[in-house]
Amino acid sequence: MPLSEPMLTARDVHRHFEGLHAVDGVSIEVMPGRITGLIGPNGAGKSTLMAVLAGTLPASSGTVIFQGEDITRMPAYQRARRGLVRTFQLPSEFAQLTVLENLMVAAPDNRGESLLGALLGKRYWMPDEERLVAQARGLLKRFGMSAKESDYAGTLSGGQKRLVEIMRALMLRPRLLLLDEPMSGVHPSIVDEIAGYLETLRDEGLTILMVEHELHMVDRLCDPVIVMAQGRVIGQGGMAALRKQREIVEAYLVG
Ligand code: ADP
Ligand code: MG
Repeated sequence: MPLSEPMLTARDVHRHFEGLHAVDGVSIEVMPGRITGLIGPNGAGKSTLMAVLAGTLPASSGTVIFQGEDITRMPAYQRARRGLVRTFQLPSEFAQLTVLENLMVAAPDNRGESLLGALLGKRYWMPDEERLVAQARGLLKRFGMSAKESDYAGTLSGGQKRLVEIMRALMLRPRLLLLDEPMSGVHPSIVDEIAGYLETLRDEGLTILMVEHELHMVDRLCDPVIVMAQGRVIGQGGMAALRKQREIVEAYLVG
């Protein structure tokens, strides 16, 4: 696929909840090798759109194309196998599992023995899981979390939990990572660290679509930026140009 092709395209996507038009005819493109930002006020429909793109919520109507394939009706796990993986706005780590176990549970070809073993209080891996353990330890090293490998995820700081979530997603070897507010609940001292990891991932070729509230992080990381309000896209482009558009400033940047 040529680099100029979008990795993901959403066409006229709607998602209604009863009478509420949470996503109301959104068309977007996500280009490869970039961190695309998704911003907008609370309730704009950002998380709902991410869920529809990831397949954790079905679209009411519209089309989602990923790497040239219509995935609109495809369940989330099949999208994940193709390389489209999301994280959640609220932390979703397994508090009673260790950090390493949290990563193992996320692995695609893990048949569940580890989870079962972990739930039974055992600490062993089946032979075919050793490759996954190596992959998980590689990620832990990369994200400066090796020392936390055996800690229960529930004991981690907010920032460390976010890192676990990103690492869990990376265990699936995504090509497009959907991040919903990866900096929320994160101490300011670790925000820059997470931003640095995201830049490195992007520089290695991972494509990211990211909902983010902190505009200085959007300025640093995201180009282009898509602005949503009331279920619709009201603007897109570079952050500097968006700041000059009155409608966008009124809808979002001022509040
Ligand atoms: P954002 O992430 O931009 O803050 P959301 O996508 O979470 O916005 O929500 C968009 C709108 O859809 C809000 O009005 C929210 O209350 C509503 N909404 C989201 N999820 C559901 C749901 N599962 N059931 C009913 N309404 C929902
Ligand atoms: Mg949200």
